[in-house]
Order: sequence, then structure tokens, then C-alpha cells
Amino acid sequence: MISHYNKIITMMKNTVSNMPTSMMCPCGGGQSCIVDRRFVGDYVHEDEVFTNNGLPLRKNCFNKFYKCQEKALENFM
Ligand SMILES: [Zn+2]
Repeated sequence: MISHYNKIITMMKNTVSNMPTSMMCPCGGGQSCIVDRRFVGDYVHEDEVFTNNGLPLRKNCFNKFYKCQEKALENFM
């Protein structure tokens, strides 16, 4: 019974393959794609750094970093 329930939950979870085309990242997606990772609920390092610094997040991988975003990432490392 419980394993059946887990199976349904897994099926309902977002996967990259059910992402609407309109949401897809211009980079084409992949393991390190921030759009893909957000969609499936994976941890996105730069999002955490920017949020902690009160900075805007990038919309997709092809967005250029703002100077202040670059700084925040540098400071973190
Ligand atoms: Zn991407």
C-alpha cells in the first residue's frame, strides 16, 4: 500500500520531460541548467547565494550576470 502511494507521488513529481516548451531554457537544458533544476526542485547554488544577498535571480542560463551577482558568487567561494 505504501509503496503504491510512493509510486504515485514519484509520477506526479516534475520531470524535465514534462516541462512546457515555453518554460524551457534557451541553453537546451541539462544537469547544470538552472531552469531545469528549479523546475524539478533541485538545489541551485547561485539562487541561494543571490537570495541571501538580496539580488535578483537569473531567468535562464543565457542571462548575463550583473556585476553585483558576480561579486556575490566570488565572495561565496
Ligand atoms: Zn539552461
